[in-house]
Amino acid sequence: MPEDRSTERNKKIKDSIAVKTKERWHAKRLHGQLPHNLDEKLVDIEQSGCWLKSGDIKGETESTIVATQNQAINTNYLKNKSLNEETESTCQLCKQHEETSEHLTLGCLILAKNKYLMRHDKVCTHLHYSICKALGTETTDKWYTHIP
Ligand SMILES: [Zn+2]
Repeated sequence: MPEDRSTERNKKIKDSIAVKTKERWHAKRLHGQLPHNLDEKLVDIEQSGCWLKSGDIKGETESTIVATQNQAINTNYLKNKSLNEETESTCQLCKQHEETSEHLTLGCLILAKNKYLMRHDKVCTHLHYSICKALGTETTDKWYTHIP
């Protein structure tokens, strides 16, 4: 019985630490962007984080994605508005919109011409690879060498 109390107390301590960590994360002006966006009713929070649990992407890529989700990449908008640097806040490529993480990931007309298309094709390649694997169809060892 004492072990049960100890286990229960440890669980309460861990839960308390997790709650405090989440509160501190939400309170951060810059890095709190992702949790604020995930609080929306339209986002499936469990599904939004499952890619982090699978562990099948490189750590460097994962950190870049997380930084982008937190809108913490070094954009002109961030430099101008948050870091008060004397930099134009507009996009370096299209020069039409504020250079935010959101703009760079899905709103820049210059990037839409090829980078977004390449990203789309890679996602489709991975999807096709996963379907082939699930159906037992012969394919390559790595998804990125697979040709749909
Ligand atoms: Zn742009």
